[in-house]
Amino acid sequence: MDRRELPIFEIERELLARAAEHRRLIVRAPTGSGKSTQIPQMLLDAGLLKSGRAVILQPRRLPTRLLAARVAAERGAKLGAEVGYQIRFENIAGRDTRILYETEGVLLRQMLSHPRLDGVAAILFDEFHERHLYGDVTLARALQLQRAARPDLLLVVMSATLPSGPLDEYLAPCAALEAHGRLFPVITEYLDRPADFDRTPPWEAAAAEFERVCREGEPSDTLVFMPGAYEISRTVQALENSPAARGRIILPLHGELPTADQDAAVARYDRPKIIVATNVAESSLTIEGVRLVVDSGLARIPRFDPARGINTLLVEKISRASADQRAGRAGRTAPGRCVRLWTEREHAERPVQEVPEIRRLDLSEVMLTLRAAGAGDLRELPWLEPPGVRALDRAEMLLRDLGALDEKQAVTELGRRMAGFPVHPRYARMMIAAGEHGCVRAVALIAALTQGRSLWMRKPDKSTLEQREDVLGEEGASDFFGLMRAFRFADSRRYDVGACNRLGIHANTARQVRALAGFFLDLAEKTGLKIEARAPDTDAICKCILTGFSDQVAKRLDAGTLRCQLVHGRKGVLARESAVQGPLLVVSEVREVEGRGGELSVILSLATAIRAEWLEELFPGDFSEPVDVEYDAAERRVVAWRRRMFRDLPLESKRVDPPPADAAGDLLAEEVINGRIKLPHWDETTDQWIARVNSLAAWCPELGLTAYSEEDRWSVLRVLCRGAVSARDLKDRPVTAVFKDQMDPARRALVEKHAPERIELSNGRRARLTYTEGEPPHIAQRIQDLYDVKETPRIAKGRVPVVVEILGPNHRPVQVTRDLAGFWRDHYPRVKKEMQRKYPKHEWR
Ligand code: ADP
Ligand code: MG
Repeated sequence: MDRRELPIFEIERELLARAAEHRRLIVRAPTGSGKSTQIPQMLLDAGLLKSGRAVILQPRRLPTRLLAARVAAERGAKLGAEVGYQIRFENIAGRDTRILYETEGVLLRQMLSHPRLDGVAAILFDEFHERHLYGDVTLARALQLQRAARPDLLLVVMSATLPSGPLDEYLAPCAALEAHGRLFPVITEYLDRPADFDRTPPWEAAAAEFERVCREGEPSDTLVFMPGAYEISRTVQALENSPAARGRIILPLHGELPTADQDAAVARYDRPKIIVATNVAESSLTIEGVRLVVDSGLARIPRFDPARGINTLLVEKISRASADQRAGRAGRTAPGRCVRLWTEREHAERPVQEVPEIRRLDLSEVMLTLRAAGAGDLRELPWLEPPGVRALDRAEMLLRDLGALDEKQAVTELGRRMAGFPVHPRYARMMIAAGEHGCVRAVALIAALTQGRSLWMRKPDKSTLEQREDVLGEEGASDFFGLMRAFRFADSRRYDVGACNRLGIHANTARQVRALAGFFLDLAEKTGLKIEARAPDTDAICKCILTGFSDQVAKRLDAGTLRCQLVHGRKGVLARESAVQGPLLVVSEVREVEGRGGELSVILSLATAIRAEWLEELFPGDFSEPVDVEYDAAERRVVAWRRRMFRDLPLESKRVDPPPADAAGDLLAEEVINGRIKLPHWDETTDQWIARVNSLAAWCPELGLTAYSEEDRWSVLRVLCRGAVSARDLKDRPVTAVFKDQMDPARRALVEKHAPERIELSNGRRARLTYTEGEPPHIAQRIQDLYDVKETPRIAKGRVPVVVEILGPNHRPVQVTRDLAGFWRDHYPRVKKEMQRKYPKHEWR
């Protein structure tokens, strides 16, 4: 077929015209219509790239190379000349390359080292609907660049399934184009009953469904989706053993295959074929002629695993949107059929779409990459969808713990080195440490062991455990050492499922660990780490683990308990199956589990014993020795402890005697305020003094007095408690005097004058005033003592009449009044009459 017959050519003229006038385009066109292979060529051939190049960003490595190869072939050029590609560790491109396919992370790193991206005329964001972290970041950076230094930069966002709306707004002003390839109807079938992949693995289920379809009719080209290399190879085996597949070419397709095998999977054949692929065939690559899709519904999806604080690739169920993409692969050239290995009911429960990576992945790696390049902060990028604040804070904290950022959040020298490793900063940090400590091999294996699911099967029975111990031995220094032995055992048995099962080891996981360890070792070599010849000592390995997980250092609360305290104020319980002894540990997994009663507990696993000296050696800047004071209620005194802290985790503490005076006095003052220490001399006069000051401040604001606040009392009490370390020391301290002393003499005199303790009555007697805040002051006097006092006495510059409680000779109140004159006039004659009868001996005027 002539490539010009591809649907994308329907919009060629419009696209070129729009590209010439707009600098931002969105292209929506179905998979297979020619976006990835044709649009870059159109731009080049129309001269829109001028002398520059187009970079086409791909989320995955495999299509990156295949697309470049395809386009090079279409143009009759050698790969690496006019058309090239670049992925991590592989650069098949030259100075003359005009169409360059790259993975997303590679371009971001280039943008950081060459901020103007000179020579790049256009960036095409392919498969943008997948919303990978690096795609989002790169687009945001590209927009910044276009607004600032490179207004000429052309940005094209492409996908088969981009919903309209937010993206169009985000890129505005931009031109949106759409091409409609022909799509044929696809009939979708579900299982009747949910599949149990533990009993019938997906490859067997897929082969069985394939056979069923073949029994019903014509064989046709088939595409089977499996999550990863291992499942693919098992599916290929299962199909090779199936009579229904006889006469067909059966080929795997995934990123770990040698390039010749990848090429074979997308080549054309004159016999019917079955391609077994990962989600690369979902929309990045078109397999021609497919009319039957068998979908396991699974994929390896990167996700933040809070248990390990890293991003992991675990096999998970794909979203409904992905499943529909996969089904669509069967209807490209004719009506097709899609068989899903799950039920219709289960389908309805699947998420409609994947959450974009920016909302679900750990951000520390991309944060470090940007900061190390001096390219600013993730918080400041113009995001299509911004990352969460908690995710940003968490990333920053981890980078600080790993030593990549200093206290001022600036990238350290170490951080810059770490940024050179295209892996999560934890592993970058561990690998660098491994290079220094001469244990790169072991650490590569450990890094691999923490990536996927555990090598150990869950809940092994007793005999399995015994056999495991017999064969592998016990290991008390690190739980990783047990895993490493398990891995070596599996490796030595060539991942034999029977042999591995007997020891409760997942053979398949071990196989994946080997591939991953190979990747880390490869990385070590490429980044120039020295790979040791001799076996390293265990301490060196444990130190490396510590550098990578220092944010998860834990200390047992006491000897023999599994309960631990961790840095960053967390607590947890060491997993029972951990073999690690000793008081101080670093754990590589922190998992929240729900207990029987619904309460959450934090389980710590993959532990490694460490020594305090290692912390001092590796993190000398992370220690402090604060002195903590504490009021010991039993001893009734302040006790002090000097704690040796690693970050916020106290490693040891020693009593300091006598406690530091200032801190002790302050603490005692606090105890007084809380009411836990009673001061014998805090009496009625003290309370009255406070009430006097506060009342007068309200009555005569012009005097400039202020009422005692909490704070003021505090500071008086601090003075009072100065130099004391126990409640006993406070026993004899005069409280009221200190209150008065703390007020300047002029003000004190005002209080004594306008809110006096006693008032002189007009008959020469002195009466004691009682003050209560918010109420008028009050005196209590016997009638006889009030003779000749005609008017109500007043204080506070005469503004406040005193409440007079008039008592009988028996000291019982007779009347309460603020109008003494009225009392004498209206009530006294009656009172006198009654009283005179009762108390004839008293004087009655
Ligand atoms: P899109 O990006 O719109 O999904 P592509 O540009 O990838 O479309 O592919 C357009 C057409 O080119 C496909 O329909 C397919 O037929 C063909 N094609 C692409 N890559 C290859 C390849 N490596 N081998 C054979 N055909 C290919
Ligand atoms: Mg494409």
